[in-house]
Amino acid sequence: MNFDDFNFDTRISSGIKQLGYTVPTPIQAQAIPAVLAGRDVMGLAQTGTGKTAAFVLPMLQRLLPGQRGRLRALIVAPTRELAEQINTAIAELGADTGLRSMTIYGGVSMDPQVRRLRSGVDIVVACPGRLLDHIGEGTVNLAQVEVLVLDEADRMFDMGFRDDMKYILKRVPTNRQFLVFSATLNFEVLNIAYSFGADPIECNVSKDQAKAENVKDEIYHVGQDEKPKYLLSLIKKENAKQVIIFSNFKHNVGRVSEFLTQNGFPAVAISSLLTQAQRNRVMEQFKSADGQNILVATDL
Ligand code: AMP
Repeated sequence: MNFDDFNFDTRISSGIKQLGYTVPTPIQAQAIPAVLAGRDVMGLAQTGTGKTAAFVLPMLQRLLPGQRGRLRALIVAPTRELAEQINTAIAELGADTGLRSMTIYGGVSMDPQVRRLRSGVDIVVACPGRLLDHIGEGTVNLAQVEVLVLDEADRMFDMGFRDDMKYILKRVPTNRQFLVFSATLNFEVLNIAYSFGADPIECNVSKDQAKAENVKDEIYHVGQDEKPKYLLSLIKKENAKQVIIFSNFKHNVGRVSEFLTQNGFPAVAISSLLTQAQRNRVMEQFKSADGQNILVATDL
């Protein structure tokens, strides 16, 4: 199978080519035909499986015809970083479509978001909290939404956004297409889909396909005191171009990055302790070729 089999409009195929995609990933092969057929979809897939393009590509195809500048697709995501990532995928894959997309999240000023909304957008990628603020202020109207995507829905529930989700869903027309992506099969996620009248096809990539290719898992059992020493030796041994270290605790990320920096491995730290401007700066430093190549992060 390749992307030509989906018969995407040439304005979308050009984006796919530009990103160098040739063969659809398993979740794309399952979900894209169902979404193109207009079905509701419940996709079980983790980050790294190509799930973003699995909903972005057929969504772009659906939005191509029709009047521009109306909010017709809403994607809700748990974190600002994920929202930015999805928005970038839309900009890249949809570069030739002329469709306009924007992010909405907290921690930054509301005014530029309001101005951009007023100027007319087709797609909004939002985190729940700030989206609710805009709905409350009357600066976002969801009455014309045709496609609603909940990405990483299980995480949104874990993060306590359940009531916000319900509030948002109530303001979206009932005849919209409903796409839900989740890393785990979560009862609450299924429940919310059914309670809002969704009739989803389940797209489930089997366990061995759920992981991105070229990923090798290893687990080290080490005591708390030994962790720094092991981390250093692992970083030295792997000599990787880029490293991301996750920590469960936001107060630890600064400590770990300082420890690495002091030991000759310059690292940057990101957690919810930083302002959004600081978070963006850290991500830029990490992404730039000559930037710091070790990122210590919480799961934000
Ligand atoms: P995601 O799981 O959506 O975060 O995607 C993970 C990465 O895989 C991103 O960098 C995508 O650009 C890339 N990707 C998605 N689909 C494909 C594909 N069919 N072929 C190659 N790379 C892909």
